[in-house]
Amino acid sequence: MKHELPKLNIEYDDLEPYIDKETMEVHYTKHHQAYVDKLNAALEGHEDLKNIKISDLLRDLNKIPEDIRNAIKNNGGGHWNHSFFWLLLKKNGADPVGEISEAIKNKFRTFDNFKEEFTNAALTRFGSGWAWLVMNNGELEIMGTANQDCPLSEGKIPILTLDVWEHSYYIKYLWNRAEYIKNWWKVVNWEKINENYKKAIKYFDKEGISKKLRI
Ligand code: MN
Repeated sequence: MKHELPKLNIEYDDLEPYIDKETMEVHYTKHHQAYVDKLNAALEGHEDLKNIKISDLLRDLNKIPEDIRNAIKNNGGGHWNHSFFWLLLKKNGADPVGEISEAIKNKFRTFDNFKEEFTNAALTRFGSGWAWLVMNNGELEIMGTANQDCPLSEGKIPILTLDVWEHSYYIKYLWNRAEYIKNWWKVVNWEKINENYKKAIKYFDKEGISKKLRI
């Protein structure tokens, strides 16, 4: 099996003016494509790994032979993280809906508090990386990862993410990551995030012990 770019469920210009058409096109067709190509190249000659889902490879990096482990972490992570990220973007995003809305209020008191904490994680991620809302032992948690590292590798379940690599905002926002983050909130797909949340809570029992994870 060769890994491929997933189909986007939005048009490149759907997120204008918050995320511009050119950034979407370059980000998807150049950056994401490069992760897919390098992932396929790294897996050449490793027939046993080719049919394993990327999420499963990332969950257990230690099982990957050392000579390609970093390549899989970086390019498999790049492929998975971007595939996950695209689904969380939508034209005319709105405020949180459904169960995730309640869960955010329970954990962070208000949506504004949550927004502030998540924004802070995105702003303070030094260099390239991602901000995340994850489920960790049955609890919502905000975290950041460097480079293309994925929370799956730490046994956490991603619910929401924001790409803060410069390539995700530099064409329109130049150095101004803060403005990019502020505008990104307007194109967040909370219906999809709510689905991610409902899927994630199914995998934790009352004691917060994770069962078999499947994303
Ligand atoms: Mn990116």
